[in-house]
Amino acid sequence: MDNKHVNVLIVGAGLSGIGAAYHIEKECSDKEYLILESRDQLGGTWDLFRYPGIRSDSDMCTMGFRFKPWKGEKLVAEGGLILDYLHEIADENSIKDKIQYHSHVNSASWSSKEAQWTISYNNKLKNSKEIITCDFLYFCVGYYDYDQGYEPNFKGRDNFKGQIIHPQKWPDDLDYSGQRVVVIGSGATAVTLIPSMAEKTEHITMLQRSPTYYMIRPNKNPLGNFIRKISNNTVAYYVMRWQNINMQSMFFKQARKYPERIKTWLIDLVKDHLPDNFDVDKHFTPPYNPWDQRLCLVPDGDLFNAINDGKASVVTDHIEEFTNDGIKLKSGDELKADIIVTATGFNIMLFGKIDITVDNQPVDPSKSMTYKGMMVSNIPNLIMTFGYTNASWTLRADLTAEYACRLFNYMDKNGYKYCKPSPDGEIEIDGEWLDFNSGYVMRVLEKLPRQGARDPWRNTQNYKKDVLQLRYGRITDKELKFI
Ligand SMILES: Cc1cc2nc3c(=O)[nH]c(=O)nc-3n(C[C@H](O)[C@H](O)[C@H](O)COP(=O)(O)OP(=O)(O)OC[C@H]3O[C@@H](n4cnc5c(N)ncnc54)[C@H](O)[C@@H]3O)c2cc1C
Repeated sequence: MDNKHVNVLIVGAGLSGIGAAYHIEKECSDKEYLILESRDQLGGTWDLFRYPGIRSDSDMCTMGFRFKPWKGEKLVAEGGLILDYLHEIADENSIKDKIQYHSHVNSASWSSKEAQWTISYNNKLKNSKEIITCDFLYFCVGYYDYDQGYEPNFKGRDNFKGQIIHPQKWPDDLDYSGQRVVVIGSGATAVTLIPSMAEKTEHITMLQRSPTYYMIRPNKNPLGNFIRKISNNTVAYYVMRWQNINMQSMFFKQARKYPERIKTWLIDLVKDHLPDNFDVDKHFTPPYNPWDQRLCLVPDGDLFNAINDGKASVVTDHIEEFTNDGIKLKSGDELKADIIVTATGFNIMLFGKIDITVDNQPVDPSKSMTYKGMMVSNIPNLIMTFGYTNASWTLRADLTAEYACRLFNYMDKNGYKYCKPSPDGEIEIDGEWLDFNSGYVMRVLEKLPRQGARDPWRNTQNYKKDVLQLRYGRITDKELKFI
């Protein structure tokens, strides 16, 4: 592999990398490309996470790709099925031959003189540093650090005699039958884990500092199943997909416009699933507005069923310290536990922790702005994938790949060697790139690129607008310089 050159180098063989490869195969078949993947498997998130019940938390009609209808009948899908789906795409489109595993990219250096990137990566099998060059660099590295999940520094952690597990590193052989389990956190991972583990545990407690908003939806859609019966899976997929895209975007807009109304509606849904005397104000009424943080989907209200059955409970309190046999809380209460699961989130990561230089100058992402949410100011020939925070990741990953292929073809047709997003004059900064106050975003806010106050420097978070701009909009733009 030494000194090899490819036209497009994709970093990461997760959902986004497989999707990007599909589009290159179909729309730029003359391009030579390679995927460098740090791990020994494709699938990224859907291969890494192995905790009980691991599933999507958005509907599969939008989590699936536009080019490959999702055939399952349920609204959400188990992680294993999503992984199978990605393998199927890779098999059907000869993508697997293009993946080089065990290859962790450390640095990428652009030379305008040579109009190419030089990528340095660690070949983990040979334990050697290797180099590859490419015309275009395409990041599909996800958004969190694979090495370590986020865990606050809990006082007395070492005192605890039981097991402490982070969902990112779930032990294959963990036996939790008859055990007392405390799950710290109330996000998507916690609400997935709790109903899945509750069947076997003696008792499982969700310990949260503050509540999260939950959206309770039936796991099957009668309309989808009806369409499936009278036509077929593919028709049902596209109808459901657009129904969900519209519902999602309408819901998000309403939440921004009428936060109190949407808050009441969401909390009433929760109340409907719990006994009358349940303290919903304390345990299920968040202190922020809906969609200030990602909303968690609870299919068929399974979390609430586990609470109603007495198998699970929720505690809202602050942790004082870990003790020998559990957790002491600020209120003075104690939770006894044999296993503590720290569902406390991720360490968010940009550019796969890859050091970037442009013409020997190191790039500081926080000093840059994103162009159309997928390129970066003054970095030539770089595409990066970052999904929506208010809708399925795949919707944007797919549009990014479509746009990238249109851009490659446009540049080939016109004989350009590279392109560089470059603002004309000063652009007013318009808040943060991710308009979101989830803990994992807040922790790294100052390291993220900025967004401008106008297009194309704004990160729209709006699928329909992006369809017009990225799928059908013009490639030529005075702020995208072609050389
Ligand atoms: C438990 C869980 C549930 C989720 N559910 C949903 C959901 O329902 N809907 C939704 O929209 N999103 C969901 N997400 C977000 C999810 O990560 C995305 O949907 C999507 O899978 C991201 O795909 P990706 O390929 O961009 O990134 P990832 O899946 O993170 O894959 C990135 C790949 O890049 C590789 N990589 C990273 N850095 C390097 C490097 N330097 N060199 C080489 N390789 C590198 C990694 O090894 C990995 O294989 C969920 C996330 C989690 C953790």
